[in-house]
Amino acid sequence: MAEWQRTHTCNELREEHVGQTVTLNGWVLTNRNNGHQAFIDLRDRYGLTQVVVHKADSADLYAQAEALKNEWVLSVTGVVRKRLEGAERADIPTGAVEVEAQVLRVLNQCPPLPFEVSEFDNKLANEDLRLEYRYLDLRRRSLQRTLILRHRLCKVIRDFMDAHNFLEVETPMLGKSTPEGARDYLVPSRVFNGEFFALPQSPQLYKQLLMIAGYDRYFQIARCLRDEDLRADRQPEFTQLDVEMSFVEREDVLSIMEKLAVEVFDKCLGVKLQTPFPRLTYAEVMAKYGSDKPDLRYGLEIVDVTDIANASEAQFLKAAVAAGGVVRAINAKGGAAKFSNTALKPGGELPKVAETYKAKGLAWMKLEGGKLTGSIEKFFNDELKAKLKERLGASDGDLLLFVADSEPVVCDALGALRTHLASSLKFYQNWWEEKADHDAGEKKKADEAKRKKQSYTPVPFQARAEHFNFLWVFDFPMFQWNAEENRWDAMHHPFTAPMDEDLEHFWKNESLGNVRAKAYDMVLNGYEVGGGSIRIHRQDVQRRVFEIFGMSPADAQGRFGFLLDALKSGAPPHGGIALGLDRWAMLLAGTTNIRDVIAFPKNQRARDLMTGAPSTVDDRQVRELGIELTAATRAALQARQGNPG
Ligand code: ASP
Repeated sequence: MAEWQRTHTCNELREEHVGQTVTLNGWVLTNRNNGHQAFIDLRDRYGLTQVVVHKADSADLYAQAEALKNEWVLSVTGVVRKRLEGAERADIPTGAVEVEAQVLRVLNQCPPLPFEVSEFDNKLANEDLRLEYRYLDLRRRSLQRTLILRHRLCKVIRDFMDAHNFLEVETPMLGKSTPEGARDYLVPSRVFNGEFFALPQSPQLYKQLLMIAGYDRYFQIARCLRDEDLRADRQPEFTQLDVEMSFVEREDVLSIMEKLAVEVFDKCLGVKLQTPFPRLTYAEVMAKYGSDKPDLRYGLEIVDVTDIANASEAQFLKAAVAAGGVVRAINAKGGAAKFSNTALKPGGELPKVAETYKAKGLAWMKLEGGKLTGSIEKFFNDELKAKLKERLGASDGDLLLFVADSEPVVCDALGALRTHLASSLKFYQNWWEEKADHDAGEKKKADEAKRKKQSYTPVPFQARAEHFNFLWVFDFPMFQWNAEENRWDAMHHPFTAPMDEDLEHFWKNESLGNVRAKAYDMVLNGYEVGGGSIRIHRQDVQRRVFEIFGMSPADAQGRFGFLLDALKSGAPPHGGIALGLDRWAMLLAGTTNIRDVIAFPKNQRARDLMTGAPSTVDDRQVRELGIELTAATRAALQARQGNPG
């Protein structure tokens, strides 16, 4: 071992090491002095150790210490000492000791960096800058913790799957399009100009082929790529725990995934989940919560009031009913005082939410002092008002919100209002918000104790099962109407089996909108964290699905001939699921920003700000692919230069 190499990490030294000569390697997090002593906080992946240099011992060494700058890479050799009484830090494991330096070796210097590697939110540089210098941002303790947690999550998953007889099999990145409802990323072939590979939207077809090949239980921590518009919880490339099983029914898949969730939450967060998770049908959740991924940490159920509204004098409500629509309402408990009448006027906070989801407007009433007031109160007689109050469980201080429209619009608008209301009325607390409150309280106690020269060890926060509301949604519709293209689409993906009870409609081509699929989603706190289905394993059924989508037999053979052939080569009944690993990591790490759980993410416009990808390539490379950039593309490219976005 060379002289400069570490004997311990920056998180290892304790009182039992006092008196030992050690060497640490790390980065300078902070460097301060009081004219007599210099204190350097040395940081590595494992933690933090305080290094101290006394001017009285060596003026040279002190001058060297004074010159150190943040983020320089250092090797320190010195003796472990107990910290002075009162100078201990309870918040770090090495807080009882410090290293009295004898030798400081600068392993590498750096100029002032584009931003400070800081943990304090108010000091965080803007995200674009942090993404551009991601290797600096990744030095932050919270991002390190998140990546360590993600590693742990994958390890727990792999161990669990292995223990349950699942084989991890890698599937190709360069393949044929696997439709999952998004746009493909395409890779032009240099060898076969004019032909393209598609990057996998998921390993769906490969895992089905593995079942047909007899592999029985498969999993893969798989990278998937979908070229679609990004949101806070979406990235163009993401990771799934992809699973497939043979000879199974829905319950087999759900129950193994529940066991996995129990294991993951126990090992990663110390949370003991209760199983089985509630199971709700699509029809039920859409009617009650207006969403197929409802957050059930709070009530705020949607209630049908079509009959009461239709008996009122409100012409616009009656007209919606006459047109085949429905009138539904939500009781925003205690919301009367929170939302002023102005916030409820057209264009105000709540109507805006409803309008975003295509509702024509939002009607409302408030119950205050035992009396209903509000935009539509005058259209309801006392008897109808009494009925409304009863059905909505209204009490003083409540705000009642109504949407009248076609059923899908009402579901969407009230579903969105429900989540908006729950967050603005603080009907739930995320575990990391509770943790922040808890930690602040503990810090106060520790500070107080320090002032009184007493010792206090902060109590660590422990998340609980009630912070995590898991449920399953199933009995999804098999098809949804694509009005733009005037044809049916798959609601899940085209390889999902129809429910046995609905097969008759399926074959007869009637009420296709009512055919249900053997699909299921796993939902956690309002996020879809998994989705899967029992698959079609009969070739005739699969052909029929393609036909319903409007594909000719030749088209179907051209695009999916390999699957159709495989399905008639001894395909076992099979089914599976994919869990969104990034979303799982987000909820375990306590963030709502998916970029926080990915080492090198893209920004919201799907650009990698660090490397600059996507970027231009040599004309020669483009030519080899048999591709030519049009004049318009070149002009657009030029216009973009200097403003990559
Ligand atoms: N392939 C599906 C998806 O990526 C999951 C599944 O059906 O197993 O959403």
